[in-house]
Amino acid sequence: MIESLVIVSILTILSIRLKVLDMYGGITAAIIGMIVYQTVGRLGILSLCIFLLVSGLATRVGYEYKKSIGVIESKSGIRGFRNVIGNGLVAAIISIIYSINYEHSGIFLAGFLGSVSAVFADTLATEIGLLYKGKPRLIIGLKKTMPGTPGGVTTYGYAGALSSSLILIIALTPFLINNNLLGMKKAALIILLSGIGGTTIDSIAGQLLQATYKCIICGITTEYPFHCGEKCEKIKGNSYVNNHLVNIICSAAGVAIGMIGYEIF
Ligand SMILES: [Zn+2]
Repeated sequence: MIESLVIVSILTILSIRLKVLDMYGGITAAIIGMIVYQTVGRLGILSLCIFLLVSGLATRVGYEYKKSIGVIESKSGIRGFRNVIGNGLVAAIISIIYSINYEHSGIFLAGFLGSVSAVFADTLATEIGLLYKGKPRLIIGLKKTMPGTPGGVTTYGYAGALSSSLILIIALTPFLINNNLLGMKKAALIILLSGIGGTTIDSIAGQLLQATYKCIICGITTEYPFHCGEKCEKIKGNSYVNNHLVNIICSAAGVAIGMIGYEIF
């Protein structure tokens, strides 16, 4: 308990200081971090830590370019509590289920890894994908679309998703190599599959359900209802389905892929 309190406190202060998270985002992440530390342990907190650190770095890569095409999330790329909930709620829930189900703990650990891998891959896919100078293609139908449109995919994005899985596998190797619940090969396959699969499902859900807006001032296409200080015009999708809800769908998809992967591999 003391170890987790100390480490989670340090991580929270660092995330806020380095402007990865705002204050409420930091507090929400600390609560999720404590739950995961107490249930999944060091393997769990390390997964979240890698996700937070690498995502924070990826947001800063090409920041000026992303800003110039108008695709930066509000508040200069700093993530708030809605973002933390969207990315971490499902992981926290599955980690609690993992800790109370002794008999089936392997499959729930697979679900936990799947959920973290999915949101990590999706975040890197977005941040790296936005650096692509051409037009992304919609995942269904492959029609060219504007950068920032929900459902738009690029090869850069998929390269980002793939690298997130590889980073996670390498970072977790010390904990996975002798893990009697999963084993290295099984865990690696689960991380890879849920990363690529979760990102793909996120894009499909984004294209089919998520609200897409057009800024009335600068004319860009965006997933955010406000731009240039004004309320945007809605082009399509459901106003209730925003990026955070699609993130929850993505992490839930990661859990499902992780658990199916556990049974297959
Ligand atoms: Zn605008």
